[in-house]
Order: sequence, then C-alpha cells, then structure tokens
Amino acid sequence: VVKTEEFQREEFAAGIWNLEPEAILMSDINSGSVLSSWFEGASQRALSLLSELIRIPTVNPYSGDPDPSGEAAGQVFVAEQMRKLGASTESLPVPADVYKQGGIHGPRERSWQKRENVVGRFQFGSGRTRIIFNAHMDTIGASDYQGDPFSGKIEGDLIYGRGSSDCKCGLASGLLAIEALRTVESDLDCQIIFQSVVDEECNGAGAGTLACCLAGLKGDYAIVLDGSAGMIYAGCLGIATAEVSVTGRSGHGSIGGVSALEKLLIVKKAIDIFTEERRGRDPEVAVNVGVLNCGIAPWVVPNSGFMAVNINYDFNEALASQKAGLGFCGAEVRARFEELITATCADDPWLSKNPPKIVWVKDVQPFSIERDPQIDPAAKLIDAASDGFRSAWGRDVTVSDLPAWCDASHLCRIGKMPVVGMGSGQPGASHTATEYNCGMNVLQTANAVAQTVLRLGKA
Ligand SMILES: [Zn+2]
Repeated sequence: VVKTEEFQREEFAAGIWNLEPEAILMSDINSGSVLSSWFEGASQRALSLLSELIRIPTVNPYSGDPDPSGEAAGQVFVAEQMRKLGASTESLPVPADVYKQGGIHGPRERSWQKRENVVGRFQFGSGRTRIIFNAHMDTIGASDYQGDPFSGKIEGDLIYGRGSSDCKCGLASGLLAIEALRTVESDLDCQIIFQSVVDEECNGAGAGTLACCLAGLKGDYAIVLDGSAGMIYAGCLGIATAEVSVTGRSGHGSIGGVSALEKLLIVKKAIDIFTEERRGRDPEVAVNVGVLNCGIAPWVVPNSGFMAVNINYDFNEALASQKAGLGFCGAEVRARFEELITATCADDPWLSKNPPKIVWVKDVQPFSIERDPQIDPAAKLIDAASDGFRSAWGRDVTVSDLPAWCDASHLCRIGKMPVVGMGSGQPGASHTATEYNCGMNVLQTANAVAQTVLRLGKA
C-alpha cells in the first residue's frame, strides 16, 4: 500500500500530537545541532588525533612483516585518550582458548601475550542504556606500503599511513563522538563501553572482540566503527580460509622429478571451477587466492607447493549448513571446495596417490541483525543509526550488508546484541600500499555516531 504524502504528513502530525513530546523533540533537534556545530569546528582535531594514532605502529604480529610491533603501544595511547574524556579503563586479556570457548573455528597456534584489549566506560547520567563502541587497534603489515607507513602526514584534508582507513580512523571517530557528546551530556542517560580490540586483521578471526563477548561485556546496542565511510551495515559475510599444500618429488632441473608447481596448478584449476561456480551464484561473494608459493630455483624441480585461499559465504549458506546439522558456518561451502579438488585430482596419477592437504585455518560466521531471530530490537537500532546518519551526512542511506567479514559478527552472534557498522575509512583505500583517508570521513562518521547515541541513549 502506497500512502500519499499528505496522509503520511497527517499521520506524523497525529503521532506528535498523541505523544505530546514537542519539548523533547525540540531539545533533540537542539542537541543534534549542538553536535553538528561542534564537529564543524573539529576538523583539525580529527586529523591530528588520527595522525597521532597512525604514528604509533600497531602492526599485527601475524602480518608477515619482518618486525611487527603488535598493538600494545597503541593501546596505552588510546586508554589515555579515553581517561581524558572521563572514562574508567581496564585491560581485558584474550584467553588462550578463546576460540574453543566461543565455539569458533579460529587459527591455531596464535598468541595474545602482551596483546590486551582496552575497555573504556563512559558514564552519561545514570548510564541506563548501554551502548558498545568497537574498533580494532591492529593493522595489516606495512612492509609493502609506498613511503613511510607511520608518517601520519597531513596534506589539506588528506592523511596518509597504515591504519588511516582501517581502523585507526574508527578509534578516532569513536573518541571524537564521545568528546562531542560531553557537550550535550544533560540530554543523555547511557553508558558507552568502548572496546579497542586486538587481532582483527591477518586471520585474527576477531579474537579480541570475541574475548570481550566472552567476558560478558553486553550492550543494549553495539556500534562497530570498522569499515568504509558513507554507509551503514547491519550484517556481514562469513569467511573460511583454506591452506592447500601439495607435495612433488624434487630433482635436478635437467633430469627431473615430479614438479609440485605443475601439480599446484592442477589444484588451482579446481579452485577456478569452484570460483566460477560461486560467481554464478553471487558475484559479490568473493573467492581470493591470496598466496601461491612454490619453487626455489630454475635448476631444481619444486618439491612442495602452497596456496592460501579466502572464501566468503553468505547468511543463506550458513543457514543451509545449520539445517544440515553442521552448525551455522561455511561447512557446506568447505565441503564443495574439497569435493572439487578431490574430483580434479582423481584424473592425475600423482595427485590421486598424493592428494593435496587442505587445512581450514578459520571459518567465522556471517551475521544479519534483521534475519537473526535472537536479535531484538534490531529495527530500533537501524532507525536510530539511519536518522543519525542523515543528520550528519545530509543524505539518506540504505542499510546494507558488508561484503566481507568483520568483528561485528561476534557481537551479534556470540554477544547476542543488535549491532550496526558505521566505519570511517576511505572506500577502497584499506589494505592498499597507499592507504590514506580524508578528515571529512572521520568527522562525518563521528557526527553520525554521536547523533545515533543521542537517539538511543536519550535521558
Ligand atoms: Zn578493519
């Protein structure tokens, strides 16, 4: 039924009349514009805060960089910033068996020694409504960055360096949102629980966020600050990571052996078939062969080969696995991957006798707050975030699913919270050799986040 504009207007007017909230509405509008004008004057503040964060290297220890820094120094800085804004802070370690506790297939042999989450609690009024903020401190490796990855150089509204779009901008936007919200404190009755987490990147599988969920940090709502600016997501894809190893038999390059490289290319063909099949199903759900390692020199027949593959899958596929009794995960997708490799290898005498070894490094589940029956009230959060976004960006937004996996999944699936993502990264800049961001992305997102809190955490 399409309502006429006039009818909608009447209904709207009637709603206001019945609730008699004219005074409250006026105060909302006023606090909203107080926030917006605070942000208008905060562009240098945003850039310098983000620059400070970029200048502290926090490369994930599993990035593959020769000398990764880890997250610790960044966590000290962020905790200081939180305390300056009136928070009480604590360190929250990641238990060694975090994946087992969470029932998540995560990477093995991972250490979280000296890699602790920081949790800041910001009280507004009596703290009635609890709202989680979440952003990750770790970045991917920086050794391939063109130029100094930790310069935090500012040129006009542009800012450069590893983490500028993923996810130090998220930490900055969360801090800025809180700083702005302090100016409208009397309108709020909420507690913001800000999680600065470790180990999101580099196969991290969200260990830091998972630890927060397992520690019982629970919000009525959660806002994840990771992702690109200018969008809101209320769901994400799942991801499974496979490592495939092939053995050959080494030999003299002129005399021969069995080349693991040639065998690896046969396996790659099977993966190509798998990829095509999935592209036909949904071209937005990616398969990425990210590593192919083989051989040492042209005078040696390669003895072994290795491939690493990321496979995204969607909510429906996780549901199908669940219905088949395999858990809400990518079990059926993984089975198809293995099936195609086995079938292809059957035609090769060497590979049928020496089948490739497939190790599933991780399989982390998708989420959708609108489709998940355990999540309530999803609609209230989506409405508040959409309204908040509109106030900050001056345009409407379609709430969508993130075409990748992110930590928000754990907050929804394990923490059982309604969660939306409001990132501030420059679209397309994350994980690149020239990662950069714009101050405006951080400011607008921080404003949108603050406006959303104003709606959710009203006194
Ligand atoms: Zn990220």
